[in-house]
Amino acid sequence: MTQVPVSFSRLQTVARELGFQYCGFAPAEPVSDDFRQSYLHWLAEGKQGEMRYLENHLEKRFNPRLLVEGTQTIVSLAMNYRPHPDRVVEGIAWYAQGVDYHEVLRERMQQLMQRLELHGRCFVDTAPVPERYWAVRCGLGWIGRHGQLVIPGEGSTFFLGELFIQEIISDDRLSSSSPYEVSSSASSSASDGHLSVPEAPLSASEVSLYASEAPLSALEAPLSTLEAPLSIPEASASGDSLLPSSFVSRCGKCHRCLDACPSPTSCLNYWLIEYRGETFPDDISSILSSPEMHGCFYGCDRCLRACPHLRVDATSEDSFCSSPALQAMTPADWLTLTPEDYRTLFRHSAVRRVKYEALMRNIRATLSHLPSSEQSR
Ligand code: SF4
Ligand code: SF4
Repeated sequence: MTQVPVSFSRLQTVARELGFQYCGFAPAEPVSDDFRQSYLHWLAEGKQGEMRYLENHLEKRFNPRLLVEGTQTIVSLAMNYRPHPDRVVEGIAWYAQGVDYHEVLRERMQQLMQRLELHGRCFVDTAPVPERYWAVRCGLGWIGRHGQLVIPGEGSTFFLGELFIQEIISDDRLSSSSPYEVSSSASSSASDGHLSVPEAPLSASEVSLYASEAPLSALEAPLSTLEAPLSIPEASASGDSLLPSSFVSRCGKCHRCLDACPSPTSCLNYWLIEYRGETFPDDISSILSSPEMHGCFYGCDRCLRACPHLRVDATSEDSFCSSPALQAMTPADWLTLTPEDYRTLFRHSAVRRVKYEALMRNIRATLSHLPSSEQSR
């Protein structure tokens, strides 16, 4: 059967109509050797902690055609979730303020495939898909020092989804477009010269230094913690083999995300979301109860908020913002949350990834030390 290529501009247009700000595509080839080696090294060091699912289905993770037979093209899509400042609930990471993004993105991607009559499958954190790897391969941005995708001039507050499709895409962008210019807003904001982030690639010594200091070198990344980390590997024995430069090259000398991190050796997303213990180790407890955490009991995204690229406007997706009921909660309300409150407040929320008992563990660790005068605010 002769395939008719799908036009990229048509894909981009429909994706925008469905609420995605960015999309890109790449051939469905096995992941690069660098990525494979980095991932295996990360696992061998046990950095997955209790996230044992990251050890599963490795060959499917590394080869998209083993995951979905017949896949010709990977499409990476990004949807902004930066909440409106007036609707931010401080105790909860930005990505979890509204309804569960899995539901929203999956539905939109299914609509996208139907409208373009694409054949294949779509994924949002639900399969062994290295989403950040594909986002970089598809030209959406690079992996910043905080381990997340940075979309230049926009930041990292984007949910990612992937289409694994049988169709080929014809690249009918203007020939002057750079890989990042998949969105009209990206091209204008990334090139206006206001960013103070040097774009020179890191030297090998800087990368090696970073590899021993980065928050992600200990455990999993913030945000969509369900998928593979792209921790920056140390130089190989020969000293000259690093990840492809597109993964790490654009942060320059900026370290703002590292400076903003309250827990540089062990990412708090792991402790607040993945960790199953009844109590926290003492060092984590003291970080969680520190004033700089501002009582954040579900997720942490301080590194994302510190990035100078974070200039994207608040999302237009109302469902990604908090509800009035959530906004009305005081620390005292959180400390006396009942299972029924939990079910009502988080009926369609990603917060339900953490069960009631674990959420209360987090709430007690972050809020119970507050003086009673502050608990009622
Ligand atoms: S700032 Fe928070 S989310 Fe970012 S690396 Fe540090 S602990 Fe993890
Ligand atoms: S804060 Fe700086 S180092 Fe961190 S991801 Fe953003 S540009 Fe890169």
